[in-house]
Amino acid sequence: MQMPIPNAAVLDKKQHIVHRLLTVLPKEAVISDPSQTRAYECDALTAYRCSPMLAVLPSDTEQVSDVLRICFEEGVPVVPRGSGTSLAGGALPTADCVILGVAKLNDVLETDYDNRLIRVQSGRTNLSVSGAVEEDGFFYAPDPSSQLACAIAGNIGMNSGGAHCLKYGVTTNNLLGVTMVMMNGDVVEIGGSHLDAGGLDLLGVICGSEGQLGVVTEATLRILHKPVAARPVLIAFDENEVAGACVADIIKAGVLPVAIEFMDRLCIETSENFAKAGYPDAEALLIVEVEGSEIEIEEQLEKIIAIAERHNPVELRQSNSEEESAKIWLGRKSAFGAIGQISDYMCLDGTIPVSELPFVLRRIGEIGEKFGLRVGNVFHAGDGNMHPLILFDANKPGDLERCEEMGAEILRLCVEVGGCLTGEHGVGVEKRDLMFDQYNAEDIEAQLHVKDVFDPKWLLNAAKVFPLTATETRRNAS
Ligand SMILES: Cc1cc2nc3c(=O)[nH]c(=O)nc-3n(C[C@H](O)[C@H](O)[C@H](O)COP(=O)(O)OP(=O)(O)OC[C@H]3O[C@@H](n4cnc5c(N)ncnc54)[C@H](O)[C@@H]3O)c2cc1C
Repeated sequence: MQMPIPNAAVLDKKQHIVHRLLTVLPKEAVISDPSQTRAYECDALTAYRCSPMLAVLPSDTEQVSDVLRICFEEGVPVVPRGSGTSLAGGALPTADCVILGVAKLNDVLETDYDNRLIRVQSGRTNLSVSGAVEEDGFFYAPDPSSQLACAIAGNIGMNSGGAHCLKYGVTTNNLLGVTMVMMNGDVVEIGGSHLDAGGLDLLGVICGSEGQLGVVTEATLRILHKPVAARPVLIAFDENEVAGACVADIIKAGVLPVAIEFMDRLCIETSENFAKAGYPDAEALLIVEVEGSEIEIEEQLEKIIAIAERHNPVELRQSNSEEESAKIWLGRKSAFGAIGQISDYMCLDGTIPVSELPFVLRRIGEIGEKFGLRVGNVFHAGDGNMHPLILFDANKPGDLERCEEMGAEILRLCVEVGGCLTGEHGVGVEKRDLMFDQYNAEDIEAQLHVKDVFDPKWLLNAAKVFPLTATETRRNAS
């Protein structure tokens, strides 16, 4: 994976930039010692690492504005960072950049139950947003598996999803407004305490813009009443493709569970060894969760079970208590960590039409055999959001490159069947060079024009999302 050559003129004035930053930030918020900047050298895509020139940790919108104004005047690249859990390298630094971390911006600013919203600073973690309102019977719906750690800032950057987004939508469907600081330090308010603002849908442009258009410091989020109850059912199959066909049939039947999660044998066995959730010996399993009143739950489960039975499951386990429900989810929630215990892995993220699941699962198996690398599948099947996990050995020369090549082939397959390069993890550096597989040159150019408007000097996270060849002239002009 290639990154731009660091700007020597910027590196040369590091001390001058530190000096200026110290005029607007307290000493402890400016990190310049290489032994400390190293803490920011990567995000959760740990295959790629690069220490930033500096890292800063402002505490409010005004400080963010001051930092960006200085960087704008000095022509210093900035990479915004939430909690650094991106799996696409979205928060990966360049050697000449300032990492702008929002970890200290973590207050709840307002809760408004009458209008079902909460306003938070953007560094607040996803789970603690629900935590702030759960005693009053509310929750924030988007639930990435990383929700204990990831920040609302990164969720907005990547338009993140999660297991329960099948019913509630992803971040963009639950975001009402943002306070954002532009690269020149200007503070703008986009959206507000209401759905859908007049004029262009700028909030839609911001959400998923991967830290390239501005730095979000505050967010107004939609919160929902907690459902009366929720209940999962575990359905195991002796073939991946049959599980895929079952998902397609559930969606086709018009039933809308809150979640349909898929795990294949590798993921079932690995998380079972790790979490001891009592999963069956099977090739594939689905966790389908429905919610509502007792009657609604029974009605939905009846339909889902009837559909599943047509596919001859090897096991169908209904939950009879909260403990059993928690156990059904335990293995799924532990899957990424469990795989990480047995091997280095790269987690892909592509989206396909649900009806293509059986075909794509078979092709992923074949591609794995072709490249000689093991691949596990654990993903949000209901909305066709695939997460193939390619296992490789980071210490074995050539393995990472083989893994990257294999990942590219799988993501191209997603595009070929009518899907998309990313579902919820974003493009970052991971899929940057595949963008021409999804878009033609005119499409890319149109997207670059949008960035031109927000960040004319191309200083914000400019080495991401778009192939470097497409952005070279713009980046070098800054
Ligand atoms: C174990 C594990 C499980 C995961 N499961 C899921 C999942 O189920 N669903 C899912 O969607 N993702 C998942 N992820 C990926 C990741 O957690 C999400 O992409 C998350 O939203 C990143 O949040 P973050 O705060 O860590 O952001 P970071 O990694 O710090 O940054 C992500 C992007 O947002 C930009 N950004 C950060 N802060 C700002 C800001 N203030 N303003 C503007 N842009 C900003 C960054 O520049 C970067 O491009 C998972 C990751 C891990 C490690």
